Amino acid sequence: MATKKSDRITKLLAAVPLSSPIPEVLPDASLLEHGMYAVLLRHLPATKAKSSLNAMQKAFPDWNELRVSQAQEIADAMTPRGKGKTRPGTQLSAAQDVKEYLAQVFQETHGLDLEFLRTDPAGGAKQLANVPILGNELTAFLAWIAEDGALPVSGGMVRVLDRMGAMTRTTSMKKARAALEPMVPAKDGLRFGMSVGLVADRWCDARKPLCWECPLAPDCPMGKKVVKDWEAQQKRLAVQRAKEEARAEAARKKEEARLAREAERERKRLEKEAEKERKRAEREAAAEARRKEAEKQKAAVAKKKAAAKKKADAAKKKAAAKKKVAAKKTKVAKARTTKKKTTAKKATKKVAKKAAKKTTRKKAARTTKKRATKTTRRR
Ligand code: SF4
Repeated sequence: MATKKSDRITKLLAAVPLSSPIPEVLPDASLLEHGMYAVLLRHLPATKAKSSLNAMQKAFPDWNELRVSQAQEIADAMTPRGKGKTRPGTQLSAAQDVKEYLAQVFQETHGLDLEFLRTDPAGGAKQLANVPILGNELTAFLAWIAEDGALPVSGGMVRVLDRMGAMTRTTSMKKARAALEPMVPAKDGLRFGMSVGLVADRWCDARKPLCWECPLAPDCPMGKKVVKDWEAQQKRLAVQRAKEEARAEAARKKEEARLAREAERERKRLEKEAEKERKRAEREAAAEARRKEAEKQKAAVAKKKAAAKKKADAAKKKAAAKKKVAAKKTKVAKARTTKKKTTAKKATKKVAKKAAKKTTRKKAARTTKKRATKTTRRR
């Protein structure tokens, strides 16, 4: 039985990849600084993480000062400008995590000192496992340092191992350690603690374990059951989804058909309206043509009348002119006749005058002759 459990632990160590390299112990560093170093290791290589920790120690008078500083300020302090090859984005992410780490520790413990873990490993580990950025994984590292290399144990680890069937659940960390120590080689103690802690943090939630994503599921009895149930649930969900999709598809098709019918009705209505409109336009065009034709005819009649009137006027004018000419001619003829008469009268008068004169002269001559005769006779 013990061999079976040991096998599980061996498989566990091989199956779980840690989120960062196993941190080393830093001489003269506090537990808080070890935690900060472990957080930096998630972003930076070990040497860079250590140099950044030293640089921050020099740049800030204390860790509380760093906690309330800007992430960019912390990133600048980690590597002075122009030095180092770390990409600025990575450094800024590391700085943000360091700031977050201090903020979470402060919120959980109301201070920036984790040395209480040395005096109260069980209570301290329970408390620090609640710091999200540390979780059971980095708490195992801190507990391992605090207890001088003793096998790290936490409630989360016990939960995982119990579910895996590697140990019996217990609330006593002492009992848990006693149960586990025979199965875990001393040299693998830290890696074991961090690996199981990581499983507890990432997948083996107390209420809703994500067994289908957990790398330990193939060797975990509870995991197998949960995965089986999850797969069955996934199948049910898939069937349900397929049904819902089919329903949705049917509803979509129905809706499409309804829309097509509506579109067809609308098309016909528009067609009718267009036909009506076309006929109305035709009627209007015909009426307009008739009106124009009538106007044209009216204009033609008016033109004809005007032409006739013009002709009549011209004829009248011509007749008047003719009359005027005739009258003029008559007047001229009258004048000529009068003139002739006058001339004739004058000639007659002249002739008469002449004749009268002749007569008078003859008379005078006769008188003279008579007188002469008388005179002669007297003589
Ligand atoms: S398989 Fe499930 S129950 Fe088992 S350790 Fe992983 S998460 Fe926990």
